[in-house]
Amino acid sequence: SASPVFVAIIGAGTVGSSFIPQLQNLIKNTTNRAIFPILIARSSKCLVSRDYTGLDLNNWSADLSASTITPPTFPNETLKWLKSAPGEVVLVDNTSSLEIAQSYPAFLSAGIHIVTPNKKGVSDSLELWDNIFNSARQGGNATGGYFYHEASCGAGLPIINTITDLVKTGDKIKKVEGVFSGTMSFLFNTFHPASGTCDEKFSAIVDKAKAAGYTEPDPRDDLNGLDVARKLTILARLSGLKVPNPTSFPIESLVPAELEAGSASDFMAGLPKFDSAIEERKAAAEKENKVLRFVGKLDVDKNQVSVGIEAFERGTAIASLRGSDNVISFFTERYGANPLVVQGAGAGAEVTAMGITADLIRVLERL
Ligand code: NAD
Repeated sequence: SASPVFVAIIGAGTVGSSFIPQLQNLIKNTTNRAIFPILIARSSKCLVSRDYTGLDLNNWSADLSASTITPPTFPNETLKWLKSAPGEVVLVDNTSSLEIAQSYPAFLSAGIHIVTPNKKGVSDSLELWDNIFNSARQGGNATGGYFYHEASCGAGLPIINTITDLVKTGDKIKKVEGVFSGTMSFLFNTFHPASGTCDEKFSAIVDKAKAAGYTEPDPRDDLNGLDVARKLTILARLSGLKVPNPTSFPIESLVPAELEAGSASDFMAGLPKFDSAIEERKAAAEKENKVLRFVGKLDVDKNQVSVGIEAFERGTAIASLRGSDNVISFFTERYGANPLVVQGAGAGAEVTAMGITADLIRVLERL
């Protein structure tokens, strides 16, 4: 049978908690290879199998809550310990930490594989992006670890692998456009539905979405467009554009400048004052039989990336979105005028974990 693989998990929150049962299932179904989970770390505590014999995952959540063990320091102790494992190692980063992502090159250079839904490594500085891919096996480092990040954009939707396959097989990406935020999708599909009407104010819809847990605890983290900008940065780079950082192109923030400071509740209290401005844009779009959507776009020939509100003709994939779905259209040389379209839930613990587990399987199949 194949050589054993050791899996170290950093981050056991919403996504990590769905990933671990999927890992258990994978361990059970992988009959030709032993897979040993050796670390489950939160910020302040962990479960660790220092002698690499593997953790029992059956009660991992209760065990982790009860644990008094401090995680090995990151990156130094963690890297040293993982390098000494008696086999291949996969690091699963389920955090949103930039600090952790900044150490990917060191882990990859040491031959440790990485799978992650964390956007930071691939959407921050171009220098970090270059360091990651130059250290990775795919980037040509024969002794480097594999690096996969499908869930960094659109959760489990096949976006990163799709665009990578298009490029690697010689297609040319011309444009990518889509709705990349589940929260923005929900807000605009509700505010400006493709069929029927909505009389609710935009601020009231944000209020409801927040109460239902569809937004970040501070809705400004969704409305400022930065999360979408990071996703666009990833896709632009994969399409061949050298985007220096995730704020190096126009981003339309839906957070009014005067509401940027202050608490989340100050923001919610102030938002109704800005309803009339967005109402006017809705009315203008309506006159052209269009609906407003919050989109990200990139155009390779024009070397342009942008994020913001746009009006779309009824009947198009973007206008017809429902619920909190994402939709991404790839316009390429091969696909011609009718784009390759990927659509579905772009957030949620189970589907995000699916993207991570599928990446882990991708690594295992290459070892
Ligand atoms: P979360 O906040 O619920 O969990 C984060 C976990 O990481 C926590 O367990 C926290 O203790 C741990 N953590 C943070 N910094 C750490 C550190 N330095 N060392 C050790 N542990 C650390 O977040 P989440 O919703 O599970 O998201 C995880 C990642 O998945 C993020 O990068 C997020 O952007 C991405 N993602 C989430 C979704 C989703 O639907 N929730 C969708 C796509 C991508």
